[in-house]
Amino acid sequence: MMEVRHLKKKYQENTVLNDINLSFQTKDVTCILGPSGAGKSTLLRCLNLLEKPTEGKILYEGKDILGKQFDIRQLREEVGMVFQHFNLFPLKTVAENIMLAPRLVKKTGKKEARECAEAMLAKVGLADKADAMPTSLSGGQQQRVAIARALAMQPKMILFDEPTSALDPELVGDVLNVMRKLADEGMSMIIVTHEMNFAKEVADRVIFMADGSIIEDALPDQFFSAPKTERAKSFLARFL
Ligand code: ATP
Ligand code: MG
Repeated sequence: MMEVRHLKKKYQENTVLNDINLSFQTKDVTCILGPSGAGKSTLLRCLNLLEKPTEGKILYEGKDILGKQFDIRQLREEVGMVFQHFNLFPLKTVAENIMLAPRLVKKTGKKEARECAEAMLAKVGLADKADAMPTSLSGGQQQRVAIARALAMQPKMILFDEPTSALDPELVGDVLNVMRKLADEGMSMIIVTHEMNFAKEVADRVIFMADGSIIEDALPDQFFSAPKTERAKSFLARFL
């Protein structure tokens, strides 16, 4: 459903992504791993046009998303994004946060948007928080609201950039469980994470990046039990 060809991203003279070639299939869960500065966030940000690649092509459902004819709204509607720092609007209630994009982008009626928000909150285990303010919630709860907000657009795919990295350790599990459930339901997901056990269990595929390149692209079993490169071996050694 998403295809990346010869993708390159430079900031001035600094090449941050160098000739990335990938294709992501519907219903696949791909975990992207790699050291800090590898270009993982930049890659995700290119996939949903928060960043403009310097060179190369990105096809979404066969359409060139960098082409002039491409309707960016399609991408905004169909590809959700969940960030490390939840980015909820602090002055809006939880339900209002979730209703915003469906109301603005999809022109969903207020009643329907509210019902959808409640359903999505139930899905992430926060049915009783619709009228709470985000700041009254724990980090893990806020992140689950951010996931509910992404789900309210009924996306075909969700990109996650280190969704649990900012959380206290005891709050990580609840967020990962929600993501695990989405994976079981067949949601297409690309997840940048440092949660190795989660990647091992949930991913259909693991991509290991370093220095702006893809170093390994493998099945999780293969990657974790027998990484092919020294880079991956020394990276994994840090998590043992
Ligand atoms: P981390 O695990 O720390 O989040 P990452 O793999 O997500 O790392 P990126 O954030 O994609 O890495 O950054 C890759 C490189 O690009 C880094 O060297 C970073 O300094 C550089 N970079 C990222 N964004 C910008 C920017 N807006 N301007 C200039 N350089 C940038
Ligand atoms: Mg990053």
